[in-house]
Amino acid sequence: MFFWDPTYFLVIIGLLISMAASGYVNRTFRKFDEVQSRRNVSGTEAAQFILQQSGIHDVDVQKISGDLTDNYNGQTKILSLSDATADSTSVAAIGVAAHECGHAVQDQTNYWPMRLRTAIVPLANIGSTISFPMILIGVLLSWNHTLITLGIFAFSLALLFQLVTLPVEFNASRRAISILAAGGILSADEVPMVRQVLTAAALTYVAAALSTFLQLLRLIILFGGNRDDN
Ligand SMILES: [Zn+2]
Repeated sequence: MFFWDPTYFLVIIGLLISMAASGYVNRTFRKFDEVQSRRNVSGTEAAQFILQQSGIHDVDVQKISGDLTDNYNGQTKILSLSDATADSTSVAAIGVAAHECGHAVQDQTNYWPMRLRTAIVPLANIGSTISFPMILIGVLLSWNHTLITLGIFAFSLALLFQLVTLPVEFNASRRAISILAAGGILSADEVPMVRQVLTAAALTYVAAALSTFLQLLRLIILFGGNRDDN
């Protein structure tokens, strides 16, 4: 009753959307990973160049294992590039490296959605951990409305986190593209390729938010109504 009900199709739709988005980003990345940048700059070199140009001197560029694990950590000031990005001189690799630099610039300029996102992380983690147990206990305690509502609210914190992530990711890509368009690393005809890679990557965040929204909708349909008549 708890998991296999008609509303489960919402979860499946969310899953399909997420799978389609991640398939699309993988395909797009691979396509432009085949295109060698004309100036033969590696992801690491591009990142170092952009950071320098942006007046950021306290960020270290490091290599990290894994597939598309590239990230920027504002606490440690470490910009990590995955194996596929760090040493590659492809247009896709440079795009990803520039996107992570976009996050470093956000950090340096105190871009407020990024600060908000960082502040929400612990709340969202707690929320997604306790929401299902709370709802379950609420149902077991002969449909305790307070617990169920709190459980749904806790889950919505995960959605809030993903929604705040969207402007942060889109903005990092916009910064990356305008930095690359300014020249120095890519030639003008290579910039639209980067735009395609970063747009595909951004879509995975939209898909994640959409899929979480569908799960929240399911919880509201299942448990949000008044079941006092039961
Ligand atoms: Zn990002």
